[in-house]
Amino acid sequence: MAKVDVRRIKKLNSAEISGGPIVYWMSREQRVFDNWGLLHARELAGDKVPLIVVFCLVPSFLGATLRHYDFMLNGMQQVEKDLRKLGYDFVLLSGQPDETLPAFVSNIRAGAVVTDFDPLRIKQQWQENVGQKIDIPLLEVDGHNIVPARFVTDKREYGARTIRPKIQRLLPEFLEEFPELASAEVKGEGFPVVDWKQVRSSIKVDETVGPVDLIPGESAAHAALDEFVTYGLGAYAEKRNDPNAEATSRLSAYYHFGQLAPQRAALEVAARPTGESVDSYLEELIIRRELSDNFCLHTPNYDSLDAAPEWAQKTLSEHSADRRAYLYSYEDFEQARTHSALWNAAQSQMVHSGFMHGYMRMYWAKKILEWSASAEEALSITIALNDRFELDGRDPNGYVGALWSIGGVHDRGWKKRSVFGSIRYMNERGCRRKFDVDAYVRKWG
Ligand SMILES: Cc1cc2nc3c(=O)[nH]c(=O)nc-3n(C[C@H](O)[C@H](O)[C@H](O)COP(=O)(O)OP(=O)(O)OC[C@H]3O[C@@H](n4cnc5c(N)ncnc54)[C@H](O)[C@@H]3O)c2cc1C
Repeated sequence: MAKVDVRRIKKLNSAEISGGPIVYWMSREQRVFDNWGLLHARELAGDKVPLIVVFCLVPSFLGATLRHYDFMLNGMQQVEKDLRKLGYDFVLLSGQPDETLPAFVSNIRAGAVVTDFDPLRIKQQWQENVGQKIDIPLLEVDGHNIVPARFVTDKREYGARTIRPKIQRLLPEFLEEFPELASAEVKGEGFPVVDWKQVRSSIKVDETVGPVDLIPGESAAHAALDEFVTYGLGAYAEKRNDPNAEATSRLSAYYHFGQLAPQRAALEVAARPTGESVDSYLEELIIRRELSDNFCLHTPNYDSLDAAPEWAQKTLSEHSADRRAYLYSYEDFEQARTHSALWNAAQSQMVHSGFMHGYMRMYWAKKILEWSASAEEALSITIALNDRFELDGRDPNGYVGALWSIGGVHDRGWKKRSVFGSIRYMNERGCRRKFDVDAYVRKWG
């Protein structure tokens, strides 16, 4: 059986492995195939003990709405089906993981728990609590970053230019083909099939933000990747900054929910003839995305303006009293009630489709800074709206995207101007130079 690279694995407590079943606590990587954590759990189970996959469903999670729960639960239902075909048990626990999981592993006398690397505070806290409460090993495996986040560097990087050479140096070692997940050799305990209808009716989340039309699940994610690589990739470099062209991959929600391994996408894209589009897709998928994990891993307050570089905090504070030409509240922004038809169209694209084009996200967040009472308020409104409506929200990319736009993270100082100080500025004139603003407003306004 192929071995998972030890550089992906971190032991989170000091307990020793015992002879019971191996539990894979699925969390960030919600997929059966191309999943290093699950593969490592399988490796530990070998032909000696059963492997049981557990997912802990929390009744509410960082303001997630029905839009997010629906996408996740549909994907999870497919996970259960695919696991059972391979002979593995799947168990859905309801409640806080740091309460339900220790009780579960103790009941079944598990031998070890393997889980996913995730730099977000709440996940790190759960893992720390679980690690303390169980008397068997808790092992974290990085299945999200191609070059594992804990290995590539041990500090917060200044920006793409400093992390890029470190990732590129290690990429040939880590961008490897995934081994296949072997079917179960030892029969599980026969846990009952999950009653998904009952699960759906038991969750109590905000239903005013409803599901969108992106098809959830691992097979849909693979189909979307195939389609992008076959038909979309060629035009990526040229058209990716035009929101009307819809030329980006639209795979971010699949990556966010772990329904698609970024490493699978990188392998498929890298196998295409080299060119500007391949390079620029790999730059976003690998360098920019892994830079976000690096930032959150080494910056526990990744959603606060205190996490912005000193020069950015200073310039924003020097301009905090500047007169704002327009001033809007959270509700004004949420309901797209600004004076700008372009901004309202971007907000409306996000609210109705669960996805705002990447170029528009930058413009959208920078205008929230320009039209809010303070930079702190702007950051909190940006994150709240992003996490509520974007299907890919609550992601390191989102926190870093907001802090890049408002707090100069991974950027440098630019020409000084009102409100922004030396934070990079964007305006509608710039958008008009890049794409047909009126067509975008007609479509989404
Ligand atoms: C204010 C703001 C908020 C954002 N919120 C989120 C968010 O909540 N979730 C999220 O996944 N991304 C977020 N981004 C980053 C980026 O805009 C999206 O990842 C991208 O638009 C998703 O569309 P796509 O999959 O078609 O991207 P593509 O252009 O096809 O890119 C491929 C992949 O590369 C990664 N990527 C692309 N751009 C970036 C970037 N700037 N930083 C880091 N990784 C990137 C993503 O994983 C993306 O799916 C945000 C950016 C900003 C400026």
